[in-house]
Amino acid sequence: MRTKARALRGVRTRRRTLERIAESRIRIDQARLLVYKAAWLMDKVGNKAARAEIAMIKTASADAACQVIDWAIQAHGAAGLCDDYLANAYAQARAIRLADGPDEVHRNQIGRLELDKSRSGGAARYAPHMALPAPP
Ligand SMILES: Cc1cc2nc3c(=O)[nH]c(=O)nc-3n(C[C@H](O)[C@H](O)[C@H](O)COP(=O)(O)OP(=O)(O)OC[C@H]3O[C@@H](n4cnc5c(N)ncnc54)[C@H](O)[C@@H]3O)c2cc1C
Repeated sequence: MRTKARALRGVRTRRRTLERIAESRIRIDQARLLVYKAAWLMDKVGNKAARAEIAMIKTASADAACQVIDWAIQAHGAAGLCDDYLANAYAQARAIRLADGPDEVHRNQIGRLELDKSRSGGAARYAPHMALPAPP
């Protein structure tokens, strides 16, 4: 409600608020689709072959949650820092960037797997279901 009221106040505030709402929707759906892809791969090819996607969702979903909640806090001004929903939600989302290993560890793993792919025959080795057919 607060964001709706803010969105009506002044053209620039309204535009910025709408852009952040749109960007939030994009980031949430990107993270959600990556989670579906990782779950699908885990079912199809197993956890080991899906380890890059598992590492990706650990960083992407926490990043998306932190950014979206941060924008919500900003939209609410100082009220966003009250010790109720948003501040707690931010603390929890932020903790996910450390729990089960810090972001950097997951990103390093993704980077290593990407380099391995280019050295050893492309995506087919890690995610055969996602590999493009060989050119004729
Ligand atoms: C809510 C929550 C739940 C947790 N649950 C569990 C659990 O169930 N089981 C469990 O074993 N642990 C758990 N942890 C611990 C968590 O795995 C560690 O906090 C995390 O791995 C970071 O280790 P650390 O706190 O010792 O910090 P450090 O290892 O000192 O890391 C500090 C910072 O250094 C950088 N860093 C560290 N290592 C690397 C690296 N290899 N490459 C690049 N940068 C690096 C990162 O920026 C990192 O944030 C939990 C933590 C939290 C916050």
